[in-house]
Amino acid sequence: MHAPSLLERSLRSVWHPCTQMKQHEALPLVPIVRGEGPWLIDAEGRRLLDGISSWWVNLFGHCNPRINAALRAQLDTLEHVMLAGFTHEPVVELSERLAALTGHRLGHAFYASDGASATEIALKMSAHYWRNLGLAEKSRFVSLAGSYHGETVGALAVTDVAIFRDAYAPLVRAGTTVPTPDARLALPGESAADVARRAAAALEAHLAEHHAQTAALIVEPLVQGASGMVMYDPEYLRLARALCDRYRVHLIADEIAVGCGRTGTFFACEQAGIWPDFLCLSKGISGGYLPLSLVLATNTVYAAFYADSATRAFLHSHSYTGNPLACRAALATLDIFEQDGVLAANRVLARQLGDAVRARFGAHPAVRQLRQRGMILAFDVATERPDFARNFFRAGLDHGVLLRPIGNTVYFMPPYILDAAHVAHLVDGAAAALAEALEPAPG
Ligand SMILES: *Cc1c(COP(=O)(O)O)cnc(C)c1O
Repeated sequence: MHAPSLLERSLRSVWHPCTQMKQHEALPLVPIVRGEGPWLIDAEGRRLLDGISSWWVNLFGHCNPRINAALRAQLDTLEHVMLAGFTHEPVVELSERLAALTGHRLGHAFYASDGASATEIALKMSAHYWRNLGLAEKSRFVSLAGSYHGETVGALAVTDVAIFRDAYAPLVRAGTTVPTPDARLALPGESAADVARRAAAALEAHLAEHHAQTAALIVEPLVQGASGMVMYDPEYLRLARALCDRYRVHLIADEIAVGCGRTGTFFACEQAGIWPDFLCLSKGISGGYLPLSLVLATNTVYAAFYADSATRAFLHSHSYTGNPLACRAALATLDIFEQDGVLAANRVLARQLGDAVRARFGAHPAVRQLRQRGMILAFDVATERPDFARNFFRAGLDHGVLLRPIGNTVYFMPPYILDAAHVAHLVDGAAAALAEALEPAPG
């Protein structure tokens, strides 16, 4: 009898996320043994360029020497302590530096471990804020069509992606969805800003009628990631901010995917010149190393909870809230942003990547709606094949790239450390994968 392989053991004991496990009868798992910069290296020594930053989390490559060194030092100092009743340098410094990045408009950081929890915290804080003000009926939420804010039962209330929500609909106290400002919806002669104004008019109609019951609007600023890298004009955020002010409704910016420089500015909201009442971060904030999420809130929100009575306090908690190792990874990540001038360097890299993708795919007969916002590039593929995404992914692996289309949308969301050779490898791999995925089905 042979010893079971890692794949066999994994299939027997690990229930993988976002996966119909039976499909692994035909499509083997990829056993990764090592990471090195933008590369993942599998058990056979095959190198895969991580074109989607391992689900949008990695910013500066795998096994980054500077983040590794910071973590090693933290490991020998303090691995963890509870954050209720205790504090420590990494969590304080991280909170101070994030507040400074918002110009101290969002000066209070509340911590959790994953993105969905950050969404839940923002929703709970918003509703509890209104309750503390004597407006407990303001407890409903509004999100955009196609929005994704996580998959816990609470976060599903504001997530509008059918495959994640439909099976659990009876468990969820669903919010209201309003039209998306998706720039692809432009009618002939309309600009992306026109689509934004049209969507904002629909938001206004909703808030005019329902503001007394509405706690908050939650948005993914500039790019709705999980529904297929839907991009929209910053004008929508400006109008939404003004409407939220007019109707006394919070604006929650879920920057879990688009924050940390992904769209070109450190926070995506900066491109609209607005600040939300709550800002959620996760994914890239720890450089892709450790589970860490947080919600930044304004002084006004914080003040509404600050009182003698415990019931006015925000009594939410997670065991690993403010974990020192995760905060240290985040501090090392912020150090790299500062020391390497990452936002400026990304402007150059984003242009190189955009030029390479447009040159290769811009005139491809099956490619539609090629779009870019900073370090996110996407295009839609005109094909009837229902298994397009899986076939593209599989073909990409054969050509040394990790790319995982969402439905018929191919996207690139790589770490910020690509050189010209990496860009060429990524685009070549994608072109080969596209050609194979578009071949007629056999038989
Ligand atoms: C990934 C994501 C989440 C959920 O984060 P998890 O850590 O996967 O729970 C929430 N909102 C957005 C915009 C995301 O992209």
